Amino acid sequence: MALQKSLQKIRTPWVERISRELASGEGVRAGFVEQLVRFYELLEQTVVTGDAGWLDPILYDWGRAPTETNLEEGDYFVSFVMNRMIALTIEVARETLGKADALELIAAVIPVFSHSLSVVVRYEMETRVAHTASELTKIQEKLQQLDHNKSNFISVAAHELKTPLTLIEGYTSMMADVVEGSSQPEINNLLEGVNNGIHRLRYIIDDMIDVSLIDNNLLTLNYQPLLITHLLNLLKTELAGAIVERSQTLNINKFEGSEIMIYGDSKRLYQALLNVAQNAIKYTPDHGMITVTGRMLPGFIEILVVDTGIGISPENQSAIFDKFGQLGRSDLHSSGKTKFKGGGPGLGLPIARGIIEAHGGTIWVESEGYDEVKLKGSTFHILLPTRTEATDPLITKFFGHYDQKKMETETEISVQETPPINNPSS
Ligand code: ADP
Repeated sequence: MALQKSLQKIRTPWVERISRELASGEGVRAGFVEQLVRFYELLEQTVVTGDAGWLDPILYDWGRAPTETNLEEGDYFVSFVMNRMIALTIEVARETLGKADALELIAAVIPVFSHSLSVVVRYEMETRVAHTASELTKIQEKLQQLDHNKSNFISVAAHELKTPLTLIEGYTSMMADVVEGSSQPEINNLLEGVNNGIHRLRYIIDDMIDVSLIDNNLLTLNYQPLLITHLLNLLKTELAGAIVERSQTLNINKFEGSEIMIYGDSKRLYQALLNVAQNAIKYTPDHGMITVTGRMLPGFIEILVVDTGIGISPENQSAIFDKFGQLGRSDLHSSGKTKFKGGGPGLGLPIARGIIEAHGGTIWVESEGYDEVKLKGSTFHILLPTRTEATDPLITKFFGHYDQKKMETETEISVQETPPINNPSS
């Protein structure tokens, strides 16, 4: 009974002191006083009944009350108010009651306040997490929009560049006809230079178009039966010049799985493989070694492109597959596809990933890290499902369910172990 009396006795000075200290301005104070009175009534009920649940509704309201400004500035306003209320309650009890009554009241209300504080902190935290999550969603939407704009820009720019390039190509070939057999051989050299530039530009524009097709899920695959060995043989022929120029060694190994007929878009898969292999040459110093090998896994064929180059640090191993994810210095940029560290526009790996993922496969890299002295090298893994049926109904109609023996005789693809290419001087 004494406790109830003490609670009643300090009620008015308690409300008065707390509102004066914690609410500035008349308007704010009026609303705050109302809240304090409500809180105090529930506090009395809690102390009398011993049931802390009485305070839950008001604590819930307070915990959910932080304003946008509080949330943005990271203020824990309600927890702060509750902490001050505890200190001020002790002060008011000491000043208003006798020593014994004050002690009794403090002993009764402190556990209630601590419970209230923990509840308020929890609600406040939940409100903050919800606020942060909604902010993150907004940022994510903005980033998606930016990425979409970037992708649209690439697509429009690529198509816009294609038209004048075709014009230049046409005029160059007309000029070549006009000067054919000319007594001035330097004109032909100059025209060859222009043609080289046109080819490089066409590669870049085609890459830009491919990356925007991949970004917009518009890449269409032309599924046909194929042998990985066939792609590897083409690769060997295409890279021979660069390998000799860079005094490197290229080993292409036949492996179990490379001679199994699978379905895929051979042109696109070759493009992906070429991008990865050209990078292996590009990021390996002269006299280094590039090995293309693989293995058969249940349901998959794994192709490995291993180099003895500069390697890739762990934190960049996934970023390089994002468009424009090149890590090199921009001053090293060169459109040459195999010049040492001659960084390109950073589209080769995103395109390779887009093509491989469109086939239901995955690509990733393993490297012990970037080191231009120790040359830790990189291993690119390409995992392709061993699809033995065309998903495209048209292809199934033409080829039916494949008969490997029949396919091999019909397509006459010769699978031979070829010696490595290396520079005669190395
Ligand atoms: P780029 O046009 O710059 O070569 P890519 O998309 O082909 O673009 O590659 C992205 C980046 O990944 C490169 O700029 C390079 O930093 C890194 N990279 C790719 N392949 C290798 C490799 N075999 N060894 C070391 N770094 C590599």
